[in-house]
Amino acid sequence: MMIMSMHKKVIITGVTGQDGSYMADLLLEETTYEIYGMVRRTSTKNYKNIEHLLNNPRFKTVTGDLSDSQSIDNLVREIKPDYFINLAAQSFVGSSWQIPEQTFDIDAIGVIRCLEAIRKHVPNCRFYNAGSSEELGNVDYSPQDEKHPLKPRSPYGAAKAAARHIVKVYRESYNLYAIQGLLYNHESERRGEEFVTRKITKNVSRIKKAIDKNEKFEPLELGNIDTKRDWSHAKDFVRGIWIMLNQEEPKEYLLSSNETHTVKEFIEKSFKLAGIYGTWKNNGVDEKYILNKTSNSIYYDDQILVQINPIFYRPAEVDLLFGNSQQARTKLNWEPQISFDHLVELMVDNDLKNS
Ligand code: GDP
Repeated sequence: MMIMSMHKKVIITGVTGQDGSYMADLLLEETTYEIYGMVRRTSTKNYKNIEHLLNNPRFKTVTGDLSDSQSIDNLVREIKPDYFINLAAQSFVGSSWQIPEQTFDIDAIGVIRCLEAIRKHVPNCRFYNAGSSEELGNVDYSPQDEKHPLKPRSPYGAAKAAARHIVKVYRESYNLYAIQGLLYNHESERRGEEFVTRKITKNVSRIKKAIDKNEKFEPLELGNIDTKRDWSHAKDFVRGIWIMLNQEEPKEYLLSSNETHTVKEFIEKSFKLAGIYGTWKNNGVDEKYILNKTSNSIYYDDQILVQINPIFYRPAEVDLLFGNSQQARTKLNWEPQISFDHLVELMVDNDLKNS
């Protein structure tokens, strides 16, 4: 006799990443559902973000890969999920110029693989796909809302825009509950280290340790620091995703902090939180953030905290992202709890403590 589980089942892809792991945390805490975290086979496991879940009887890892349609089909057929939350992706814009085909395969075709499996085996399953403000790219107006046209500027943005179209096509063709939220940048203590926020907070921690020991240090090297982003905490956003998935009708919303800040601001705030003060000098590629002289240490003479390395410039840049999430706030009753200042504080504290 087959034993039927009484609990609803959720597949989360990308569960070892920032958003996937926070989503698993949220659902284990707030529901009685069984969580199937899909992990990709790699020679070295990277379970740092889900280590704390591995002994939870409601959490199980399953092997699959968005580039392998059979694996997705098998998982959906066997598990028969009530929700499928696709948070796996080639998520780094910067790398998407180096690996454009892989970016499209995972971020666009991978979504078709999920939708096909759902359509065939569990047409009542609710599907969420991670959308991005990078789909808007070269923006026409600010702040942007759900009506803003898709104008991607990177292979990543183009792949996510393609995914948005295909999610809509499947929703309308097969009457699926399939949506792609439009999420602005969201960061956290679990953010990947190549993203600018985490790169800054990791390096602030490195430089802080050197200064405390009176040692010389290498500057933090960045690309375009005049760009503006609308940053929130990922925890707030996975809550927003879950609310979006539980509406009566499958409607897509934009999630953002409704503020925009330059990369430079993020840099200044992070150093300040570590007790390090600097001054900006020069412009463009020659721009530098120089440590203010506050001590008699010999190393404190013109120590460069931050300098520009054009290697980090992108072939095409998204200069400004600034969201208007009023729709989500009024219709979904969602609102971020963690402010920009608090986000920077959490990330800097975490890296000062743990790295
Ligand atoms: P994105 O908005 O998804 O591309 O998130 P990122 O954190 O990768 O980049 C945010 C912004 O920071 C972009 O405008 C980047 O060009 C800019 N930036 C400047 N220097 C760097 C750097 O060294 N690394 C990254 N990742 N971004 C940088």
